[in-house]
Amino acid sequence: MKIIKFGGSSIANIENIEKVFSIVEKRADKEEFALVFSAFGGVTEQLLQCATIAQQSEESYHTILQELEKKHLDIVRSLVPVQQQSTALTFVKVRFNELGDLFHGIYLIKECSDRTMDYVLSFGERLSNFILVAGLQARGKDAIYLDARDVVKTNDRFGHAKVDFAKTNALIQDYFKSHKGLKVITGFIGATDKGETTTVGRSGSDYTASIFAAALKAEQVEIWTDVSGVMTADPRLVYTAFTIPQLSYNEAMELSHFGAKVVFPATMQPAMKEDIPIYIKNTFKPDEVGTLISRESGEGKIIKGISSMGNISILNVQGPGLVEVIGVSQRFFGTLASYGINIVLISQASSEHSICVAIPSKDAAKAKSMIEEEFRYEIQSGEMDEVQVMPDMAVIAVVGENMQHNPGASGRMFQALGRNNVNVAAIAQGSSELNISAVISQADLQKALNALHEAFFLS
Ligand code: ADP
Ligand code: MG
Repeated sequence: MKIIKFGGSSIANIENIEKVFSIVEKRADKEEFALVFSAFGGVTEQLLQCATIAQQSEESYHTILQELEKKHLDIVRSLVPVQQQSTALTFVKVRFNELGDLFHGIYLIKECSDRTMDYVLSFGERLSNFILVAGLQARGKDAIYLDARDVVKTNDRFGHAKVDFAKTNALIQDYFKSHKGLKVITGFIGATDKGETTTVGRSGSDYTASIFAAALKAEQVEIWTDVSGVMTADPRLVYTAFTIPQLSYNEAMELSHFGAKVVFPATMQPAMKEDIPIYIKNTFKPDEVGTLISRESGEGKIIKGISSMGNISILNVQGPGLVEVIGVSQRFFGTLASYGINIVLISQASSEHSICVAIPSKDAAKAKSMIEEEFRYEIQSGEMDEVQVMPDMAVIAVVGENMQHNPGASGRMFQALGRNNVNVAAIAQGSSELNISAVISQADLQKALNALHEAFFLS
């Protein structure tokens, strides 16, 4: 058994879907596999946009919703012969009636909770997978639609729900034992025990594939996308980036954690637990080898890749009396955690006079006010200064297991940044020595990426 996942870009239009079907059809007679699909390319963003507009009490979501419905109906009509279209057309129309009601509700109450948002976004994967099943059936494949909410059980942390693996694995195994045929599984979504729809994180379809693979002890997971594997840097920012043939699970996790969007970070965990290899492949160049992610790191240079994340802000707390303040770190991090703020990077000076974290810019204002609230007494008494926020920053990270045995990586990194006049605001190194990361100004990001890429890969 293999689990094969195609991302939104691979199924963004009819032409692409035909490519996907030809890959699937070539293999269907020879291999046993199940498929996982994301929403059709761009659909998740548009659903999000509708919910946002409706909340601002504007009715202009109607136009986008109509476009979306047409897009789905058009795909059914081109994929399925007329005589066999009715089930899929009905499914689409019923879903869009539900979406219309949902957005009207959001418009009336001017609010869309995380829970409602997960439900809204779930339509993307349900629609695409149902339609693709109809398309595969029309091609004579014995395809069946599996709504992942029936088997992937999660807690109710809407937006990035945690999977209950004991329940989920048992349900997946039962389902696969009792159902014949080519399973086509909705990525990204799950459900609580009460039946509320959840999602496992944006771009979480990769994770869904890995969850199924681990539950079924599959031979491999394949993530098919629009590039030929994990590359040495984001190819949209570094034109000379090239495919990395092999990565360890940990290296892939570090790269994706710091922004390599090609594979969702959590994907590596279930696969790693069962020692299942993950292949990253290109739908549009299926013959290229792509990237193998497994326990082995394989051959390579001193680093494997460079990743980056923009729209970051730095929060800095410091003050003359900070050393004496009890439990500063605990209170500082506790406050951020209690508001669900994701910390991208931590850097602390050894003098303990300051703590510095990088967080997404969208959370910066809230984080500042929450921390100042927590430390109100210390700020009033002058032991601590007000929280400083540096906006418009980016994090850049070099990643690779070889750095453990090679002391030269950080020297080379900071030399290259210095030579190119890139100012470094903060530095962090994971204790595993798998990555070195630096916070720089967002304006310098592309220059810095290219300078590092040149220094590590092209010289
Ligand atoms: P999918 O729709 O298949 O899930 P994504 O858009 O999530 O595809 O991921 C693929 C994109 O990730 C690529 O088109 C590329 O622009 C981007 N990307 C960012 N960093 C990297 C990297 N290091 N290697 C490859 N792709 C990367
Ligand atoms: Mg993706």
